Amino acid sequence: MATTLIEGAASPEKRGTTTPEGHRAALLEERETVQPVARLTGVIKRYETTTALDGLDLALRAGEIVALLGPNGAGKSTAVRLMLGLAAPTSGTVRIFGGDPREATARTRVGAMLQVARLVETLRVREHLDLFRSYYPRPLAVAEIVRFAQLDGLEDRMFGQLSGGQKQRVLFALALCGDPDLIFLDEPTVGMDIEARRGLWQQIRELKARGKTVLLTTHYLEEADALADRVVVINKGRVVSAGTPAEIKRMSGGRRIRCQTALSFADLQAMEGVASVEAAEDFVTVTAHNAEDVVREMLLRDATLSGLEIASPALEDAFLALTKN
Ligand code: ADP
Ligand code: MG
Repeated sequence: MATTLIEGAASPEKRGTTTPEGHRAALLEERETVQPVARLTGVIKRYETTTALDGLDLALRAGEIVALLGPNGAGKSTAVRLMLGLAAPTSGTVRIFGGDPREATARTRVGAMLQVARLVETLRVREHLDLFRSYYPRPLAVAEIVRFAQLDGLEDRMFGQLSGGQKQRVLFALALCGDPDLIFLDEPTVGMDIEARRGLWQQIRELKARGKTVLLTTHYLEEADALADRVVVINKGRVVSAGTPAEIKRMSGGRRIRCQTALSFADLQAMEGVASVEAAEDFVTVTAHNAEDVVREMLLRDATLSGLEIASPALEDAFLALTKN
């Protein structure tokens, strides 16, 4: 963990702490609670005719995995490029560790796997790793990177000789070379088969276990659901929804209760929290946000109720509902 103090953070003296432990605790606390690892505030990014980001607000807290989820063209890669200091906002502010992302101190604490990364095909994997390690003050050992990114046995292969999935793993490895505190992964599992994708998910969880902050962009809803502490859904450069995967699902209209019941259509519709009731053959499907309350009430009022099933909407349904406009 880097010990760089964050510029702009209140000094411990102001808090009246006197012991070294107190100082350290105060600094850590400020780092965690006052200052997000990254923050975009009211960011607008225009290209000639397109508005890629249209007032985006986003904060990343230390140690969390955030999925930036959105359809193609939503502005995900643009947001990442701004946080990396590769582009400047048209208006609004972008801060990484409290500073400008183009400053050297911020950049050495960040690693990235970009969507359109191209590497020299005739350099060997080990040479690429050494090159990237040379950019950072405290790089990880090559052996550790190789092990972590599962590149064992591929160190002496030329990049151009690798399969698509192996190339993705090299790009992932490059993002880790500097032992960064904050890692950006822009659609990291595109083109991977399901097994390779699951493998990378496991490595991303491992990064979180090591205290890293991860921002992942994806249009795979399953990926956001499987990995993220928080999902930020964006469309047309704006946040349309944000929350835990479970919260995002709930926003799409609640859970579906399916059963056979003697209760009438009208009885069901009149229950508190019920959004809709549909009947098909012998079964009814009741949609409600407060599914437990509704089920409790149904069971209380109908002792013959049977075949009960409760389903959460897929994240996909929620996502489609949230981004349809
Ligand atoms: P996503 O990563 O979510 O697919 P992007 O951030 O790549 O979306 O793009 C958002 C919008 O900005 C798109 O309409 C895209 O065409 C446009 N855009 C992105 N980069 C540029 C650029 N360098 N020049 C012009 N338009 C761009
Ligand atoms: Mg993109």
